[in-house]
Amino acid sequence: MKEKFELVATAAAGLEAVVGREIRNLGYDCQVENGRVRFEGGLDAIIKTNLWLRSADRIKIVVGQFPARTFEELFQGVFGLDWEHYLPLGCKFPISKAKCVKSKLHNEPSVQAISKKAVVKKLQQHFSRPENVPLQEVGAEFKIEVSILKDQATVMIDTTGASLFKRGYRVEKGGAPIKENMAAAILQLSNWYPDKPLIDPTCGSGTFCIEAALLARNIAPGLKRSFAFEEWNWVDQDAVEQARKDAQTQIRTDLVLDISGFDIDGRMVEIAKKNAFAAGVEDAICFKQMRLQDLRTDKINGVILSNPPYGERLLDDTAIARLYREMGEVFAPLTTWSKFILTSDEQFESRFGSQADKKRKLYNGTLKVDLYQFFGQRVKRTRTE
Ligand code: SAH
Repeated sequence: MKEKFELVATAAAGLEAVVGREIRNLGYDCQVENGRVRFEGGLDAIIKTNLWLRSADRIKIVVGQFPARTFEELFQGVFGLDWEHYLPLGCKFPISKAKCVKSKLHNEPSVQAISKKAVVKKLQQHFSRPENVPLQEVGAEFKIEVSILKDQATVMIDTTGASLFKRGYRVEKGGAPIKENMAAAILQLSNWYPDKPLIDPTCGSGTFCIEAALLARNIAPGLKRSFAFEEWNWVDQDAVEQARKDAQTQIRTDLVLDISGFDIDGRMVEIAKKNAFAAGVEDAICFKQMRLQDLRTDKINGVILSNPPYGERLLDDTAIARLYREMGEVFAPLTTWSKFILTSDEQFESRFGSQADKKRKLYNGTLKVDLYQFFGQRVKRTRTE
């Protein structure tokens, strides 16, 4: 087995820096690029990042990079990589993805087929198997991805399996949930700390609230799921188990949290409660059926996160315009609260009645959305000497 791996954590556009910060917090130096963050580490890094990263999509091993202007170069490049260090005899190794961008090679199915042939030939040679007998593929799966960008091929193995946004706690999702890793990233972009109140007035299936509780209690987001790498023969199962045990001991139960989620739709409130229960944080969140229009609070310095209905989803334009205006009216008195609103509606600010302090472009799946950020005014403490 290899001691050290070149790794990438993939991230949604706009969230790379958040993923980078999380990787550094886990103790690995990294470089932030478009759509991904590069870092290096041993098996511990593969285990820890899969288990702990809240905002990333997937962790992949970079097996190698080389120029690939022709199919011959591609074949030789893939053949030249040290597959014997990753792939045991009998494993499944589909070329699950091939992507060509701005490159001479552009026929993705051919890139897939040629890469497959090159890996097969390498393994046949390494394990002294005859070339005319196909390799059996029955064991654990190693998904291989080949991406060619400007004639440079990068060949990777996915360690994660189902994307990291799938935490394993979502029992039901309702109409239009935000992805768990996007919610976790937005929380980290907000100025929320566990000692501040947090409200999601359009909570739907409860994603923001649940991710906030997981973050505050330091619950590893991957604790309730498994990963592709756990099936691999060279992965030390004790190390994986130990990492899960360590994560378990790091959970903080001593914090008093003030997290609330409201929704006009009683069925969504029930779904949110079920999801919170599955995530093990039901006691940390107050979910209640309530209209956004009825939101009032005397608390200060809180954070509102909201992913309200927008055009393509759920409501028609007149209703959206009205909802956003009412949202503006309800939020206006909450001057010490910061507000973070995620919507694809480009008229949001005029409808809401106030211009955001900051705007950040993100993608909810393929839909372009903006995160409108309004920062609360600091409450000045009066000295009583
Ligand atoms: N972020 C959520 C999805 C929110 S979808 C998740 O991850 O699941 C928008 C939600 O706003 C819907 O659940 C809808 O019922 C709710 N909603 C619409 N109008 C509302 C209103 N006036 N007050 C409160 N909630 C409302």
